[in-house]
Amino acid sequence: MSTQPSSKSATPTDDSSPSKRALKERGNLFEIAGAQVNKAAEAIGLDPDVSAILAQPKNEVIINFPVRLEDGRYHVFKGYRIQHNNLLGPFKGGMRYHEEANLDEMKALASWMTYKSALHDIPFGGSKGGIKVNPRDLSRLELERITRRFTHALGNNIGPEWDIPAPDVGTNEQTMVWMMDTYMNVVGFQDKNAVRRVVTGKSVLSGGSHGRRAATGQGIIHCITEWAVEKNFDLDGATFIIQGFGNVGTHTARLLSKLGGVMVGVGDHTGYIANPEGINAHKLMEHVRRTGGVAEYRGGKSITRKRFFEIDAQIFVPAALELELGDEEAKALRCKLVAEGANGPTYPSAEKILLDKGIEIIPDILANSGGVVVSYYEWLQNKRSERWEESEVLAKLERRMKRTYQNVRQYSQRHEVDLRTASYGIGLERLQQAYSERGIFP
Ligand code: NAD
Repeated sequence: MSTQPSSKSATPTDDSSPSKRALKERGNLFEIAGAQVNKAAEAIGLDPDVSAILAQPKNEVIINFPVRLEDGRYHVFKGYRIQHNNLLGPFKGGMRYHEEANLDEMKALASWMTYKSALHDIPFGGSKGGIKVNPRDLSRLELERITRRFTHALGNNIGPEWDIPAPDVGTNEQTMVWMMDTYMNVVGFQDKNAVRRVVTGKSVLSGGSHGRRAATGQGIIHCITEWAVEKNFDLDGATFIIQGFGNVGTHTARLLSKLGGVMVGVGDHTGYIANPEGINAHKLMEHVRRTGGVAEYRGGKSITRKRFFEIDAQIFVPAALELELGDEEAKALRCKLVAEGANGPTYPSAEKILLDKGIEIIPDILANSGGVVVSYYEWLQNKRSERWEESEVLAKLERRMKRTYQNVRQYSQRHEVDLRTASYGIGLERLQQAYSERGIFP
């Protein structure tokens, strides 16, 4: 038995990347998330009892489970499911497969889901989970075995009215379909179809929603569009750079290009490329599908990570991992807007530098919330045995994103706070009100 999965492929990464730095050096993500909440709690005078409750997740599930890989040996994996809060509805949050997955990261990500749902007034709480593994090291069969074994081991810790996973970094529609199928097969024949909504982000054929795949990117676009209208900023011809070219990055790039935006730089775990004439998002998506990363794409010149942040572009969308935007990167950036596609990409000190430079930040819990919005629509469709037209889903998403964006903008003006603090403020006020109505049992 081994505790290390076999390494089938090397993952070339720029060593200067913060994600390659020691976790300790990068700072504790849960502490950073807590500081963001505390700032908003102070601004709105949050009840200290509510603050204390929200400061820790309700449940922390860690499971070590063995799976036989294709080398014939058993390997032990560590899986997490952190349930932060379910006051407003069932726990809801993604499943991440990443070699650096750890408890504090999961706790931070779970708490952000609580505030994201509360901000939108979606009847969900917040959770997050995943497995400490590099999915690129595994074959498809191994990934399926690991997913099914973990889902089975989670047992009643997930459920359609209890805790509902979705895709995140390193997972996708296929992962969700395996999870659903495994869960369905253990609940008994008669309930099988009734529990389809135990996960969201499934393929459309297996019960997913039209529009879910691109929903996070689409939500970012709605926020950027609202911002552009406010600032009288023309998106047609606007230049942008994107870090991370997975689910969130690709759809954001594609949709922003459709509005006339020009992608002048992009990077992922394989490297960074730039082209002042523009990089075709569709062709790059095809290249990434074939090769696994943006490096060596012929339509751009290979550049360093440092040079990427110095590119002269008007919009920056971080869509990779957390804590990629530190002081150095903030000083280098020359954009007008940072729209956070990734969760927690910005260090607090870097945020201050950006704001002092007059760069506006549309915070993660608002910008990337299109995913949870359409996950909610998927969950509703499954619950009612309905299938909504894509146009209906997209119209609902657009209305909700724009309404929430406007709520955040107005709140920030009323309270004279930045957009991040305003987003937390709205969510925290909803949670506080629900606690004060319901009280704490017993
Ligand atoms: P993904 O696995 O599809 O893509 C991740 C991307 O990040 C890949 O292109 C990868 O190469 C890149 N990356 C990884 N390490 C990197 C590094 N060190 N430097 C540069 N790039 C690196 O994941 P995703 O679903 O697109 O998620 C991206 C971010 O968006 C995460 O922070 C996630 O939590 C957040 N998010 C995702 C969703 C969703 O619906 N998928 C919703 C809300 C938020």
